[in-house]
Amino acid sequence: MSDWNELYLEVILDHNKNPRNNEELELYTHEAKGHNPLCGDRISIQIVLENEKVKEAKFTGSGCAISTASASILTETIKGKNRSEVESLFENFHGLVTGKETEKELGKLAIFEGVKKYPARVKCATLSWHALMAALEGKEETTTE
Ligand code: ZN
Repeated sequence: MSDWNELYLEVILDHNKNPRNNEELELYTHEAKGHNPLCGDRISIQIVLENEKVKEAKFTGSGCAISTASASILTETIKGKNRSEVESLFENFHGLVTGKETEKELGKLAIFEGVKKYPARVKCATLSWHALMAALEGKEETTTE
């Protein structure tokens, strides 16, 4: 990953080393497990949705640096957002990492743009998002395949 912006890589490595919101919630309204069989990543997302807004978000599980950092930044990013804001973030993020779209209003999530050059890692970057969407749809688990 030598052509990846160094600053972006630093942020990813930092979130992998010190993941934010990496604990279990005692009380939550939505939860789903995500599995990426290609890489072996397993990430569970728990959220508290109150009045259609994400009040709290946590993740557990284990995975590679990219899936862990992505879950960490996801939990930071979605707090305070409502369901449709979360859905459009996912759409924009997915478009960015698959190289279909350029960055739009993604904030810190934009650092994952580099994965578009590594198709195998796209699933690592989007795993926690797939788990989040599954949770919002009332599903218990999802897989990237
Ligand atoms: Zn991975």
